[in-house]
Amino acid sequence: MNTEAIVSIKNAMGGRLEIVRQTFPAHNGKPTRRISFVAGLHGDELAGLYLCHRLIRALRELQDTRPEVFLGQINIYPAANPAGIHSSNRLWPYYGLDMNRVIGQENGHTVGTRAASLLYKDILNHSEYAVDIHASNLHLLELPQIRVIEEFAVDLLPLASEANADLVWVHPMAGLFESTLGYNLNQEKIPTLVIETGICQRIHAHLIDPLFEGMMHYLLHLGILDANYLSPEKVRPPRVLYPKQVMQATAKNSGLFVGSVQPGETVCRGQRLGQVLDVVEGEVLEDVNAPAAGLLFTLREHPLVHSGALLARIALDPES
Ligand SMILES: [Zn+2]
Repeated sequence: MNTEAIVSIKNAMGGRLEIVRQTFPAHNGKPTRRISFVAGLHGDELAGLYLCHRLIRALRELQDTRPEVFLGQINIYPAANPAGIHSSNRLWPYYGLDMNRVIGQENGHTVGTRAASLLYKDILNHSEYAVDIHASNLHLLELPQIRVIEEFAVDLLPLASEANADLVWVHPMAGLFESTLGYNLNQEKIPTLVIETGICQRIHAHLIDPLFEGMMHYLLHLGILDANYLSPEKVRPPRVLYPKQVMQATAKNSGLFVGSVQPGETVCRGQRLGQVLDVVEGEVLEDVNAPAAGLLFTLREHPLVHSGALLARIALDPES
């Protein structure tokens, strides 16, 4: 494994902020294909850091014991927003900069924008494929899923099916995606899977384990690791979702949401998902029921809600 700091910025107190690329080169020096894994672009989304840890650990062991299986090159950027990660902040602190909203843009010369630009160029120069790993925001817990913008669906769906995610969610383009890493890499013909799993500031190992198996399988599928020497990992086909196949439940009242189900459960129409409570008066303000039958794949984790807050998302059963 070769370690390179692709961004190294001296901070005011004398230490350095670095974005590190770990590279596992091809055994014969001529990679068939190159892939990059990126995590921590949002500094409070720690699930991807753990997934990168799992990958680095497994690949190091493989390199020590079976170096001949590395037909391609694997790059891992395990902590793409070091300033944000140090303060558990989604944004690059001080500037309040979202690194995943400035990619491919001319957005000035702050430290954060320069770091984002250098990271993007490094990935462009070292990848034929990429995986960008995110977690949900502070409010929602998500089952492992891959988000695909409609215009890239033809190319990405066959690849996304090899990642062992529970869901692949195909959604329309929106303006805010134009400056994301995933959109820009896909526009540059570097097929990029954008993973969303768990919730920020937490690690749920049971939501990462299947993705780890999926990423190892993906490396075999792409011929980056030699499938002749390693038995392919088994992956489940994901449930592919289009916008009309997603129903959501929202709060009608402000209060404290207490859920009574878990993401990953199959729910019936009308089944209770939780309640919104009035803390001061000791009343139940509402029972929150499933609007349709299907797979519960998003659930409100942060209990404080206001009227209109998203509480749950359900992937509809085909017959619904
Ligand atoms: Zn994110």
